[in-house]
Amino acid sequence: MKISGLKTFLIPTTVSDSEWALGKAFLLIKVETDSGLSGWGEAYVPHDCEHAIDALIRAMARYLEGTDPLKIEKFRHNALNAFANLQTGFHLSCAIAGIEMALWDITGIAMEQPVYRLLGSPCRTQVPVYANCHSNKGKSIDDIVEYAKARYAEGFRSVKIYPFLDQTAVERGLTDLQHLRESLESDCTILVDAWRALDYATAMLACAGLEQLGVKWLEDPVPLDDLQALSRITSETSLSIVTGETLSTETEFELLLQKNAANILNPDIACCGLSQIRSIAAIARAQSCQMAIHNFNTMGLGLAASLHIAAIIPNLAGVEYFPRFQAASDQFCVLHWQHGEDHAFKLCDKPGLGVTVDESALNRFEHQPGPARPWPD
Ligand SMILES: [Mg+2]
Repeated sequence: MKISGLKTFLIPTTVSDSEWALGKAFLLIKVETDSGLSGWGEAYVPHDCEHAIDALIRAMARYLEGTDPLKIEKFRHNALNAFANLQTGFHLSCAIAGIEMALWDITGIAMEQPVYRLLGSPCRTQVPVYANCHSNKGKSIDDIVEYAKARYAEGFRSVKIYPFLDQTAVERGLTDLQHLRESLESDCTILVDAWRALDYATAMLACAGLEQLGVKWLEDPVPLDDLQALSRITSETSLSIVTGETLSTETEFELLLQKNAANILNPDIACCGLSQIRSIAAIARAQSCQMAIHNFNTMGLGLAASLHIAAIIPNLAGVEYFPRFQAASDQFCVLHWQHGEDHAFKLCDKPGLGVTVDESALNRFEHQPGPARPWPD
């Protein structure tokens, strides 16, 4: 079996725009083979970067034609070495991860096995997910409380909140969180993401309050450039510090571990890729660190790939789920994973990733840039 072609599909921000939050572009990849078998992948695309990553994937496509789709590690090696001359970077990682995901899908279908069985062996029967409750449409804390309560009613038992965005003072963010804590059922876990908006001093102030509120983790308290601050925060708080969504290589995650700068590593499935996250999980485990799978992607391919890698990671802390992308994803694909207890996903035994993509639906989307994001004065 040889790769015979590669197609990319851009899904505009309008498809996932909602009353709750602004939409996000998605980028899907179809890898076709001369056997007639094909596989689907998804590359993570930061805002306004979908065309850049699409261009990288298209540039790589000609080197893939005629190669064996089952040689996934060889593809990764050649993409990094022969294609990129080891001039790596975040966007290149996203492009490689998207193609790699499609190759795993093909491999699973060809071998009639779910991808998690090819990655290793499953160590759980259900994969836990948490509901991301982020909004960028100026919602009040009362709106966020209602949104989180609705997710709990759907079955989620963990919700992630962003109380320190938009220059919100730490004290104000903590007051909002206290309101949320008092409004939610006691068995609903709260996770907090600071989105790199704090510094060491304000992060420690936040940690003191979050510890009192029984929050489970604090994600990205400070920018990852400041490893020294991350390391100090991690050692000085009893909260679990989560970080890594802006990183794309195993070497970068190794550095985090060397500096004791996190308790939970947070690689994105469609940026770091399945093979690399498997390696990162192994080095994290050796240092008693856990893994949370970041997934700012579709609730189709991105979610499915996250569930496959999560199925085989013993040191798993959870998988990110964006309820607001569900309706958008349903427009172009079917996820064959079914919910179990607490909205977790039961392992799916379908070959490949367990997602059916409707190519004709993708062809109907007309790409247009998302709305410009305001820059601060
Ligand atoms: Mg985050």
